[in-house]
Amino acid sequence: MCGIVGYVGKRDAIPVLVEGLHRLEYRGYDSAGLAVLRRGRLAVTKTAGRVADLREKIAGREKATGKATGKAPPGKGAVPGKGAVKSTVGIGHTRWATHGEPNETNAHPHTDSAGRIAVVHNGIIENADQLREQLTASGVRLVSDTDTEALAHLIAAELAAGDTAGDTAGDATADAAGGDVALEDAVVRVLAAVEGAYGLVVLDVAHPDQLVVARNGSPIVLGLGENEMFVASDVAALVRYTRQVIYLEDGEAATIRASDFHTTSLNGAAGASAEKTPTMVDADAGDYELGEFADYMSKEIHEQPDALRRALMGRLDERFATARLGGISLDARQLRGIRQVKFLGCGSAYYAGLIGAQLVEELARIPADAEPASEFRYRSPVVDPDTLYVAVSQSGETSDTLMAVQELKRKGGQVMGAVNVVGSAIGRECGHGIFLHAGPEVAVASTKALTNMAANFALLALLMGRVRDLSAASGERIVAGLRNLPGQVSRILAAESEIAAVAHRFAGADHMFFIGRVRGWPVAREGAQKLKEISYVHAEAYQAGELKHGPLALISPGMPSVVIVPSDDLVAKNISTIEQIRARGGPVIAVTSASVPDGLADAVITVPRAEPELEPILFNVPLQILAYHAAAKLGRDIDKPRNLAKSVTVE
Ligand code: GLU
Repeated sequence: MCGIVGYVGKRDAIPVLVEGLHRLEYRGYDSAGLAVLRRGRLAVTKTAGRVADLREKIAGREKATGKATGKAPPGKGAVPGKGAVKSTVGIGHTRWATHGEPNETNAHPHTDSAGRIAVVHNGIIENADQLREQLTASGVRLVSDTDTEALAHLIAAELAAGDTAGDTAGDATADAAGGDVALEDAVVRVLAAVEGAYGLVVLDVAHPDQLVVARNGSPIVLGLGENEMFVASDVAALVRYTRQVIYLEDGEAATIRASDFHTTSLNGAAGASAEKTPTMVDADAGDYELGEFADYMSKEIHEQPDALRRALMGRLDERFATARLGGISLDARQLRGIRQVKFLGCGSAYYAGLIGAQLVEELARIPADAEPASEFRYRSPVVDPDTLYVAVSQSGETSDTLMAVQELKRKGGQVMGAVNVVGSAIGRECGHGIFLHAGPEVAVASTKALTNMAANFALLALLMGRVRDLSAASGERIVAGLRNLPGQVSRILAAESEIAAVAHRFAGADHMFFIGRVRGWPVAREGAQKLKEISYVHAEAYQAGELKHGPLALISPGMPSVVIVPSDDLVAKNISTIEQIRARGGPVIAVTSASVPDGLADAVITVPRAEPELEPILFNVPLQILAYHAAAKLGRDIDKPRNLAKSVTVE
């Protein structure tokens, strides 16, 4: 989900759009583009690079066309030259690819074949394949690999059909009739057949005084100016121009013009215009680089409910109590033939793999484990052709994981990717897999990508379980449990200040233990990693049962232990672990979804109770918050911990 900007008014639209896109850069993106209306035609400029490249590309052309002719050249891809008519309406986009590689062709805006309609879109169209097939069958040539392009063709076709009907009936055009209904109607009609998440803006050559926007699952905000109107996916792009904004709701569309706007419902209530009172944004442009957040890690922790919703969207099959993972090219028979699953990743991706392995064993009853890809690649692994290897990487560029994939392929292994960046090296090398849908992750310490990895592995485990012996009833229980996760994460986030208080109490420790058993074990490992990487407090994870075999010797009042106590049949065992630690003077922070006896631990962090198999996904979240506030208390540079990089593309 990346950035959208739109403008209609009296200014030169291009600088407004470029500035808006620049303000949205903090969200991360892979390509950018804009379209303006000039002399009654669309002028589209796109780049596979940064917003600065887009700005340069535009400036270069302006200079060239201005000098050469003093007026703008015709055709797409051009922008106004010196002396050319300025464009006062346009749309811009920074893209985070979900369908098709990040290249210039796939960058937005997308247009229909005749160059009448331009669309920018954030989100994912779930039935894009079907829509693209329909269009191809009707003779339309799609030029990009995106889900978005289909929208431009569909809206153009809808308008063309309307125009023909109008002509036959001898009606005046919508514009001549003083209405803005035609474009909006066409957009609403097209969206009725569209499944998925979107925030989008549509520009139509035949309606040069307006933009039509719609929202379903991806934010759209209107900015109201003096005889000018803005639209964006984030107020960060608007506050330089106006502080009066209207937040569109899910299921709403709007038509905006320089002097006014109206909203309407997407759900059939045709023409139902809602009265909207503008909200005053209480901040300056600079304040919005990170929205309300102090840093990206905090922002990304808080984005987890939405990131999870995106990961689950369209992937839960209620009817057959299973998961739909369209990116995996293995049919039921091939899935059944898999005798072992092995997750390969580095750092948090490896710990997410440990959670995945546990889920696969529990739900599909297939032996599964995880290994650091950095080890796998160097140890001449035995590659079993009936093992499914899953290469896990947020960026999709992690060198160690990529090398492991290449080693596997050389040895004839079956490998699929689990990446957050479409078109990344690991995704390409694997050829199939699961897209994480976490949205861009900027902070070095992974939070939402890790959570989405774990949730996606639950989907994989469910799918593999349902082609094997997992009953429909158990499948239904897991589907319902997955649906509950985003809300449960929100509840954990709502308790942030209590978790922060615990973090502040213990942030002064030099060392900490993270203790877990079975489902709690990968959680403990990830929790220890998170704390050490951003706070620099030394943290080690141990299996609860291993304590007495060595580490118990280190327990003392100066060694706090975070003990993970999920609601499973090991609660009593975990409680006795806490007692053992406290008996030796060690302070304990219990992180639990079970009811632990009062006074048992020095601090208790409560996690909502989930389906037992899914609890590890939730338990990561309070540990992220704990690490975050310990690091903040210690004054660390949270987004850029020392010696670490976001994506490790070198050995
Ligand atoms: N799904 C669209 C694409 O891949 C939009 C992605 C975005 O939100 O930037 O082009």
